[in-house]
Amino acid sequence: MSYSEEQFLQLSGLQHYQFCKRQWGLIHIELLWAENFLTASGNLLHSRVHKRDTEMRGGVLMSRGLRLHSYKLGLAGQADIVQFERSDSSNDKLTCDLPAFEGRWKPCPVEFKHGKPKISACDRIQLCAQAVCLEEMLEVQIDLGQIFYGKTRRREDVEFTEQLRDKTAALANEIHKVFDLGVVPKVTPGPKCKSCSLRELCLPKTTGIDKKVKQYIERILSDETDA
Ligand code: SF4
Repeated sequence: MSYSEEQFLQLSGLQHYQFCKRQWGLIHIELLWAENFLTASGNLLHSRVHKRDTEMRGGVLMSRGLRLHSYKLGLAGQADIVQFERSDSSNDKLTCDLPAFEGRWKPCPVEFKHGKPKISACDRIQLCAQAVCLEEMLEVQIDLGQIFYGKTRRREDVEFTEQLRDKTAALANEIHKVFDLGVVPKVTPGPKCKSCSLRELCLPKTTGIDKKVKQYIERILSDETDA
């Protein structure tokens, strides 16, 4: 399956969708946004690494804010950092040419997160989507990426396994299907709402009432039918 440019959705939506489908819908369908402390500190971190520039450090080329896209996933976005290591590898699949630089280079996407490593695969999926974009754009195979977590101040290696790639593609396809419906998913209140910057716009307690009323009416009707 391949998407056209007109169908591209934001790569960052993968993270929003996994956090809360409704939050993703409010941001990417309704085009709403609001900051809270967590998003503001995350944005501050990303504003530093999203400054578009390239520098060479000890034989490693660091490219910040590189624009990415994938027709296979139908996603477009921006990488925090892509590191290109000069390579003498005889495995051409893992290396690519870079305009203006001699030799072959091995790319590695690096994502910055202000929190700590999560049990869920959401951060790994976002990074894997970046790797798929780079693979398409540079005609290369990328086996490994890294996530830097602000709380632990450590980089974690992420292996782009077939399983992770399948999960990433399945999620991107699901998001496209929901986007095409054009309906913001319903409220699913939970502990996540406490840290959600869109809480005031979503009003999870108020909009969640509809569901409770519906359930109440359904129960009454079913009691009457049984009587
Ligand atoms: S307040 Fe809760 S249900 Fe509403 S968008 Fe945020 S996380 Fe989702």
